[in-house]
Amino acid sequence: MNKTAVYPGSFDPVTLGHLDIIRRAASMFDRLNVTVMVNTAKTPLFLTEERVKILEEATADIPGVEVDSFHGLLIDYCREKGIHIAVRGLRAITDFEYELQIAQTNHELSHGELDTMFLTTDLRYSYLSSSTVKEIASFGGDISACVPSFVVPLLYEKYSKKH
Ligand code: ADP
Repeated sequence: MNKTAVYPGSFDPVTLGHLDIIRRAASMFDRLNVTVMVNTAKTPLFLTEERVKILEEATADIPGVEVDSFHGLLIDYCREKGIHIAVRGLRAITDFEYELQIAQTNHELSHGELDTMFLTTDLRYSYLSSSTVKEIASFGGDISACVPSFVVPLLYEKYSKKH
């Protein structure tokens, strides 16, 4: 059976922590859709199309990965694509409560059609989040250990435009 999973997120922008989860999840499934979910509760720094483009470049060397975007509920995306597994990353116990709630909501809303699998973060990246990276970049700090190298100038560019 051809197994596809989705890794949904804001990816604003993708970090080395996300990429570690993508690499590991991609090796477990035939296909992994890395999907930028348009979250109306958050104001992103990068446009959806920019986030998709960055993800495409960052995952170009990982077999089985397809980058996508979706405006709506994850369960609707998964129903449309025939996907039954969502992958999420867990960094710390603080992620757990939120992630558990989302996973149970999705399971309930999808009438048991969508399950969530958690991968624990590599310790090297457990402190990393897109928000921290953006904060460091906004003050001109060194983010080279946090994001793929081609993303570094894109982040600085966003903030210099804002100043
Ligand atoms: P969301 O807005 O959906 O939380 P993010 O892009 O911040 O989107 O995160 C997407 C997923 O990646 C979440 O499951 C999050 O816990 C996970 N994640 C974020 N940063 C890391 C990291 N450094 N290591 C592992 N997983 C991470």
